[in-house]
Amino acid sequence: MHKIGVYSAKPYDKSFLEAAAKGHDLEFHFFEDSLSEEMVSTLKDFEIICLFVNDMVNRSMMVKLASNKVKLIALRCAGFNNVDLTAAKEYGIKVVRVPAYSPYAVAEHTLAMIMTLNRKTHRAYNRVRENNFSLNGLMGFDLNGKTVGVIGTGKIGQIFCKIMQGLNCQVVAYDPHPNQELQTAGVKYLTLQELFKASDIISLQCPLTEETKYLINSGTIGMMKEGVMLINTSRGGLINTQALISGLKSRRIGYLGIDVYEQEENLFFEDLSDQIIEDDLIMRLITFPNVLITAHQAFFTKNAMDNIANTTVMNIEQFIKGDELENELKVD
Ligand code: NAD
Repeated sequence: MHKIGVYSAKPYDKSFLEAAAKGHDLEFHFFEDSLSEEMVSTLKDFEIICLFVNDMVNRSMMVKLASNKVKLIALRCAGFNNVDLTAAKEYGIKVVRVPAYSPYAVAEHTLAMIMTLNRKTHRAYNRVRENNFSLNGLMGFDLNGKTVGVIGTGKIGQIFCKIMQGLNCQVVAYDPHPNQELQTAGVKYLTLQELFKASDIISLQCPLTEETKYLINSGTIGMMKEGVMLINTSRGGLINTQALISGLKSRRIGYLGIDVYEQEENLFFEDLSDQIIEDDLIMRLITFPNVLITAHQAFFTKNAMDNIANTTVMNIEQFIKGDELENELKVD
């Protein structure tokens, strides 16, 4: 039996992983908490650990993992900015991920955020339950004919472009590697600066890298249209939150939808309803009536959870058998 330490494990992770592992020689040990520096020191018996988006593994943790004989980190996510891959390579720890579990889930949640912010269905729902049938404050705009700027046209971005074209929007995009099929379908690639100037709605669908860190800052917000709608379902670090708050206060940003937040590891996936939250930036964001925050749930569909669990089990099996790891993350 191969023992696997699964961190940041919620009840839904347990049920999907256990179902996927039926008939395999795997023994999961689930821990609700995310992997911390202290836990790494005491970690025993696990050659394989299984992590999620907010389990950080920096260099010093990697050293400890290696000395505790960890050989494989199996990420249950696509993004991998939380793991120091260079250190992993140096210490002989392989890292695998789930590259695509459901790009539809994330693209569709992006649309849900746009629809909610625009047509204010969240406010209407609460009002009607209180017998308040007034329409004051609920006015939206037609998406038809609006310009949507998509930054990053990979798996998720491509689907999102097609969804917005289906709503008769003009879709423009920026990606260092433009997609020919999208171009043929009428998506126009622009420079970033042109995209910021042209778009009524801007959606971030690119990874967090050194290059994209704080892509949205006071300078780039200054290039955007007055009243722009900005959506981030990718990674929190793409946006400088302080600049975002200034952009909302100056009314340059007319609507904000975020499923990710730079300091989310201290907040998201937990019920903190009876606690004092010390993060003043998120608390300020929550106060704006034109801001919608969801707690990293864009991926969270049954289809995606099935794919995450099945691919994770496959990744682990390939490692155990010594096969080629088709979802291995490598650095040069
Ligand atoms: P992908 O690798 O298929 O596509 C990423 C695209 O971004 C590529 O086309 C790449 O060329 C482009 N890109 C790279 N650098 C860029 C830059 N500087 N500017 C603009 N574009 C750039 O990835 P994907 O599956 O489409 O996922 C995109 C991101 O979505 C992931 O990196 C992850 O951070 C995020 N994500 C979020 C959730 C969620 O639940 N909120 C779930 C899955 C993925």
